[in-house]
Amino acid sequence: MRNPGSNGKKFDVKINFDKIVGQQHVKQLLQQILEGGRLAHAYLFSGSEGTGKLATAARFAQAILCENAEETPCGACKSCLQFTSGNHPNYMLVYPHPKAAKDVEKQSVVQMIKEKPYQVKLPWNAPQISIDSIRELRRNLGLKTFGHQRRVIILLDAHKMTREATNAVLKVLEEPPPDTYFLLISSDQENLLPTIISRCQLVQFNNLTDEDILQSLLAGGRGTESELRLVARMARGSMRRALQLVETGAGEMKEVGVELLRTAFKRYSEIAAYGAEIAGKYERPQLKEILESLILWLRDAFLLENVLQAQAEANLTNPDDQEKMQKFVSNFPQFQYRSAIKEVETGIRMLEKYVQPAVVLIVMMGKLRKYAIKP
Ligand SMILES: [Zn+2]
Repeated sequence: MRNPGSNGKKFDVKINFDKIVGQQHVKQLLQQILEGGRLAHAYLFSGSEGTGKLATAARFAQAILCENAEETPCGACKSCLQFTSGNHPNYMLVYPHPKAAKDVEKQSVVQMIKEKPYQVKLPWNAPQISIDSIRELRRNLGLKTFGHQRRVIILLDAHKMTREATNAVLKVLEEPPPDTYFLLISSDQENLLPTIISRCQLVQFNNLTDEDILQSLLAGGRGTESELRLVARMARGSMRRALQLVETGAGEMKEVGVELLRTAFKRYSEIAAYGAEIAGKYERPQLKEILESLILWLRDAFLLENVLQAQAEANLTNPDDQEKMQKFVSNFPQFQYRSAIKEVETGIRMLEKYVQPAVVLIVMMGKLRKYAIKP
């Protein structure tokens, strides 16, 4: 059994980061921390949504508690079995929830973290971490630890603590109980009190690269390479978005985007009808994805028209659509791609500003049509 001492002794421990996407620098850092046997009392896992903070924190927590001295978390020792079954006596998870949260809802959160750590969505509207949750935590911290000594607490969405809860946590962090380690997680560090941040060692998560996302989706057998390359581009660094796109169908979003472009060159009555139809069929976030995929498609077409063939081909987001794009490029030799892309970007901003979706789409198509003709 590993001695969780504070003597700084090196251990031959290797953390198993299976299924944690990218973030090599974080993996290295956590590996060094555990090897050195010198854990700080509090870490702040900070970064955008979908970059793997919770997935990594859960794995790190299990590794800290694991009794195996080599490959950790081993998944087989008593501690690991307790951890995966969701009732480790020395592991606590604090997350925002309303006072009246049902047990079944709370269980669903624990289940999600275990099964889909990149897609955890709390089942409540704008929940907060209340003082009650922190009082319960402090009561638990007052109890004697069970078995081996270490204790780990994950505070999910730490920026959603109420002021009272923040002050209570601050007190704990100022005088942390021995062998107790806090992993705070936040995608909104600016809304954390500086005094909290200064008590924590910062572990910064970067947006994932397209390649990291692509490789993870491929390994998970989530589709063909050309489909997934599009998903990876559209995900903009977030594994959460990537998995959502796989589920909602990035291919479909792209088809609709291209259809909007095609319809822009038809009669005005058809533009209005199609705009209204699509606005009625999809929710605002999906409409944004549709427009984002249209931007990627237009960029591809622009590359095909303006860059040497081989170079363009190597850089296409939608290689499967090359023939369609070539056709578009030769049908509209004067098409002003830059202005068109700006127009679609404006459409996205309008959707964000809660302009009527049908209006956004119809106006956008009307303008796209103009960019095919030289002014
Ligand atoms: Zn273990």
